[in-house]
Amino acid sequence: MTVAIDGERLWQSLMDLAQIGATPKGGNCRLALSKEDGQGRDLVVGWMREAGLEITVDQVGNIFGVRPGRDPARKPVMTGSHIDTQPTGGRFDGCFGVMAGLEVMRTLNDQGIQTEAPLALTIWTNEEGTRFVPVMMGSGVHCGVFPLETALAATDVDGKAVRDELAAIGYAGTAPIGTVQAGSYLEAHIEQGPILEAEETTIGVVTGSLGLRWYDVTVTGMEAHAGPTPMALRRDALYAATHLMQAVVDIANDPAFAPLGRGTVGVVNAYPASRNVIPGRVQFTVDLRHEDAALLEQMEQRFRAAAAALAAGETTGTPVQVDIAFVQEFPPTPFDRTLVERVRSEAIARGMSQRDIVTGAGHDAVYMARCVPTAMIFVPCKDGISHNEVEDADPKHLEAGANVLLGAMLAQAA
Ligand SMILES: [Zn+2]
Repeated sequence: MTVAIDGERLWQSLMDLAQIGATPKGGNCRLALSKEDGQGRDLVVGWMREAGLEITVDQVGNIFGVRPGRDPARKPVMTGSHIDTQPTGGRFDGCFGVMAGLEVMRTLNDQGIQTEAPLALTIWTNEEGTRFVPVMMGSGVHCGVFPLETALAATDVDGKAVRDELAAIGYAGTAPIGTVQAGSYLEAHIEQGPILEAEETTIGVVTGSLGLRWYDVTVTGMEAHAGPTPMALRRDALYAATHLMQAVVDIANDPAFAPLGRGTVGVVNAYPASRNVIPGRVQFTVDLRHEDAALLEQMEQRFRAAAAALAAGETTGTPVQVDIAFVQEFPPTPFDRTLVERVRSEAIARGMSQRDIVTGAGHDAVYMARCVPTAMIFVPCKDGISHNEVEDADPKHLEAGANVLLGAMLAQAA
């Protein structure tokens, strides 16, 4: 017999949680460590206790609920996500993963099923990074990406520190970081993109996350009067810069890097920003992404080659100065092959449509993948919209995603 979760109970729990910090347009505002976040935590922790989970709160406020297995020597099969939201966030981002995990626990209780390995449900602190940076704070500390002290000392715009705000909502835990350690980690999440809905596919089998590299580019030419300066004698920094901006997008569109390459210029500033002055200096940002580390490196080399050609005057006929400052990078993170295939086979066994997908957004799972075997399960969201009050999802898709989570956790904990 195939065990299945209760889709209505899952939906009702999501809607009950969504009442806390509800916004006029039907979304949620539960900023990390706000009063509303505290109320949301209280509600969910109450449900976790009712489900018999043993609660541990660590020093950065991560909440772990453990369901014992027959073999206490094994590390738990963990699932989880976050319940903090963007200021105008939706009801499903993060919350679905936590409620799906809770629904798994409730279902196993109803069915009287005990697993070999223990199971655990985790609520990670401050995934969104809206009020406090770094983003994905709780999972980042848990996985040793940055120190506990960095997280506790982080302040919001009013100068309030994570340390004090954790205490204010009653979640300044005492358990040392790593008290509860996962053997493996699964996270269910709405896709936050348009692919599954467009292809009428129920389950996204997430194979990993895109790597990202950020740069700041400065192109320097020469300012001069827009009238008296003949075209042939100009060193127009903006005209030159547009060629490099186009190259960034063209590289990502190149068949060598499509469909998983991404190239974006998000910010452009031209100086002196006067309508009758030829721009002498242009600064712009570059965001390059790919799932494959070697291809991401090749994208960077192509971008640097385009910059060198521009600087030498090969592109426009006029040399300019081009400076590239490296800002930050996240390496591509492939998920665990075995666990990814568990997710796929569960979807197939339950007769659901599925396809491979990569996550372009950050998730707690991306940090967890650095320390334990990890996979994610995506379900469609309406119009691919997230980080928005209108974020919506089909209860049937959420039910399907939670069932895949259930099946994969059972298989992993066997
Ligand atoms: Zn999320």
